[in-house]
Order: sequence, then C-alpha cells, then structure tokens
Amino acid sequence: MSTQAPQYDLWLDGADRPAASGATFTRHSPFDGTLAAVFADGDEGDAERAVDAARQAFDSGPWPNSPARRRFEVLTETARQLNANADTVAERMVLESGKPVSLALGEVAAAARCFEYYAGLALSAEGSAINERNPNALGLVLREPIGVAALITAWNFPLLGVVCKLAPALAAGCTVVAKPSHLCPGPAVLLARYLGAAGLPGGVFNVVTSQRERGAVVGQHFAASLKVDKVAFTGSTASGQAVMRAAAANTKRVALELGGKSANIVFGDAPFDDAARTALTAFTFNSGQQCSAGSRLLLHRDIHDEFLTALAEHAQAQVLGDPRDAATTMGPLISEQQLERVLRYIEVGRTEGKLVTGGDVPDDPALKQGYFVPPTVFDEVDNSSRLAQEEIFGPVLAVIPFDTEEEAIALANDSAYGLAGGVWTRSLDTAIRVVKGIRTGKMFVNSYNTAGIEDMPHGGYKDSGTGREFGQVGLEEFQELKTVQILLR
Ligand code: NAD
Repeated sequence: MSTQAPQYDLWLDGADRPAASGATFTRHSPFDGTLAAVFADGDEGDAERAVDAARQAFDSGPWPNSPARRRFEVLTETARQLNANADTVAERMVLESGKPVSLALGEVAAAARCFEYYAGLALSAEGSAINERNPNALGLVLREPIGVAALITAWNFPLLGVVCKLAPALAAGCTVVAKPSHLCPGPAVLLARYLGAAGLPGGVFNVVTSQRERGAVVGQHFAASLKVDKVAFTGSTASGQAVMRAAAANTKRVALELGGKSANIVFGDAPFDDAARTALTAFTFNSGQQCSAGSRLLLHRDIHDEFLTALAEHAQAQVLGDPRDAATTMGPLISEQQLERVLRYIEVGRTEGKLVTGGDVPDDPALKQGYFVPPTVFDEVDNSSRLAQEEIFGPVLAVIPFDTEEEAIALANDSAYGLAGGVWTRSLDTAIRVVKGIRTGKMFVNSYNTAGIEDMPHGGYKDSGTGREFGQVGLEEFQELKTVQILLR
C-alpha cells in the first residue's frame, strides 16, 4: 500500500487539528483502488469543538460585524486561490470520487465563480425603509446574518455542493461548521486552507471529516445542536428527513436539497439532434450521480423509434475510462455499494422495461477494478414502476412513451419528487404550458442541466426538499429579517 497518500486533519478554529481520539479513516480511488488519502475521523466531541468555535466566532468575533468590503475581499481572494490551485483540487476530486478530470476542473471553476458572485452580493446587499405609511413613523427592514450555519453535504459535487452554501453564508456574515461526505472529503478540507490563506478569521469556517457511521452521528449532532441556528443539507431524502426532525430541537432554519426523478419531455417537433444528444447527457453526466438527472425520458410516439436509435448511438460513443484522462466522459460510480445498487436496479429494469442499450458492466480489463456502468436505457417503462419512481443515482434511463401534452404533464407530475425537468419543442406555447404545468423547482427548455445561465435558484418541490441555493435567494437563506418601527416624537 502506498505511504505517499496525503493525510488531512480536521479544520477547527483556523488550523489543522487531528481528531481528539486520534482516529483516522482512509479513502480509496473508485477507479483502481489506490489509496487516495487518510482523513481525521471526527466524532461527536470534535463536532462539539467545531460548533463551539463557530459559536464563539459569531458571538464575539469580527466576521458578522465586518464591513461588507472586507467580506467581499475575502470571498474574492478565495475565488482567486481556488483558480490558482484548480489542478490540486481537481486531482483530489478525481482520486477520491472518480469524477473525470474535465468535470472536476469545471466544478472548481464554477465554485470560484460562486465565490465571486456572492462577493458581489455581499457588497450590494441592502435592507429597506418604509417611509410612506405613517407621517409620524419610519419603518426599517434590516438583514442580519442568521448565526451559526451547519452544512452537511453529499459526495457527488464535493466542492460546489459545499461552496453554494458556504459562499452565501459567509457573504451574509454567518459562521459555519461543515461535514463533507466521507466518500470525498478532500476538496472541503483544501477549501478551508484557501479560506484561511484568504484572510478568513479563525473559527468562521470549521470542517469535521468522519467515516460513514460517524458521519451520520456528526451530522445529527450539528442538526440537533442548540448552538446552531441553521442547517443546510444535501443528500438523500431519508437523511434529510432525519436532519429535519433533529433540527426541531431549537426550531432552527432548515434547507434540504434532496433527491429527484426528473422528467425530460421530448415532443415530436423537438430540435432532434440536440434533444437526442442532451437526453443522453441529462442522465449520464457525472455517471448519473446527480440530483437533477433527467432519468425519466418522456418521448412522443411520433419520433419514438428514430429518437431511441440516435440515443443509443450517443450512449455507445461515451468514453468510460481512467478519470485522470482528459478524453474520459464517464468515470466509475462512487463505490462498490453504489455499483451493486445500480446493478440491482438494472435487474429490476429487465423485468419492468425493454433494454435498448447498456445493461452489462464493461468487460474491458482496464476498467475491471473500477465501479463502471455504461449508459443503460430501458424503453416501454410504466411510470408506476420502480424504475420510473425511485432515484437510482446511476446512468440508467427509463423511457416512457406518450401521445398528448396533457398525458406528458400528468406523467411528469406523477412522482414523489419535484426537482427538475426538461421540455423539448419548437412551440413556445407548448413549452410554456408544460413549464407551468409541472411541479418542480427547475425546468429547462430545449436544454438540460444548463442553458448557460448561472446563479439561478436551485431547489425542489415535494420530496426533493425545501429552500433554495444559488442566486439572490441563496443569500437570503442565510439572513434573518429584523423589522424596526420608529415612532417620531
Ligand atoms: P446521504 O444522505 O447518504 O448523505 C449526505 C450527507 O449526510 C453526508 O455528509 C452524510 O454523512 C450525512 N448524513 C447521513 N445520514 C445522516 C443523518 N441521519 N443525519 C445527518 N447527516 C447524515 O446522501 P449521499 O449518498 O451522500 O448523496 C446522494 C443523495 O444526495 C442523492 O439522493 C441525491 O439526489 C442527493 N443530492 C441532492 C442534491 C440537490 O441539490 N437536490 C445535490 C446532490 C445530491
């Protein structure tokens, strides 16, 4: 076993610190099993140390009362540090999560832009005044930092998933404790160091890494702590519900970014080539390990056969390979457990649908040690089946044919989730009717995952969660409103 792998401590009160118990855990590459890093294995006691540091930094530290320009400078410098160290952070992500390097570099760049965006909002945030209701009074609406925020995050966007909460929290003047997933904690620990180098005062950002079981204990500790004012969580619906229950202890603010089973709807008049190419990436991006995945394809019967032929061709053109290789488009799944889960769903799919492409793990010897699943498409899936209702979190697509717009809207809405969705048509009327008809937090028209507009609110309806990240509203999630009524005498 390599002894070269780096070792990372917890980040508490502005410095690297081992877990009080001295315990550590390891993370191995899901591509070839090499040792990626050794991490401090924090427990409840360490979680409490982190919360105390953040509480102290909020109650008596300079950060919540620092001038907006100071917060702007620290966030801007952090963006610069991330860009300057993009290769280091991306390499960490590739090693720990198997994410292809092109995607990892894209994630680092997006995280840096997120810091820049909230640096700008830190400078421009304003409350409001009400002068017009009563000549003898003045009303003020002040925006104040919410307090200590706990961030509990998943592994699939190990940097951006933290930054989209952290950047607005810091811009608002909050202090923070974070618990990244045990499956890819390195980027969050590196980020803490860059924030320190950018001038963030000690105690404002604290990171507790911990292995799987303790991770849930640390997350629960944060969620239940009476010293924490807000918890922002990304992960599965079941864990999110456990966080929400624990958070009731002191009625803390809760934001949950949970799972999805989003419908990508393709009408007969869709821009065919773009729709087929994007329908593939909609469910294979990040090897399908994305909350917004378009994992249900609602396909109009008029173009059904031709579209599936094109989709299968795009699927077979995907390059599964070493995530360090720039040509790789799909890396391995995050873990053996996730591989087994996805393969179980593929077996379910064989009974619930008609296999179009994929289905078997690749027999390429170069991929044998990795947790690879090729793009897998099942046609003629009933929307009530498990394949259409349950989040798989792998590159598996359920194709559900439809005939009418009303039917497509009803099928899309027939889901416990409501995170995202897509609609492909040249008819503006159809597109807008569908957008309005579907109960999800995000819709794409003639695109999927992005139409090139950043910093728009992200979050779900129904079981997909509560609260929003990104955009102006992302900052407001970390602010309390205080109204002041002044009577003139
Ligand atoms: P997970 O729920 O297992 O873990 C998420 C985080 O919560 C981890 O840090 C984990 O240690 C912690 N945790 C686990 N149990 C906990 C508990 N009882 N109390 C407190 N914390 C706990 O999820 P995962 O496997 O890491 O991530 C995959 C899930 O995340 C998928 O369902 C996916 O859809 C969802 N996700 C959602 C979004 C979104 O923005 N909506 C984004 C990414 C991922």
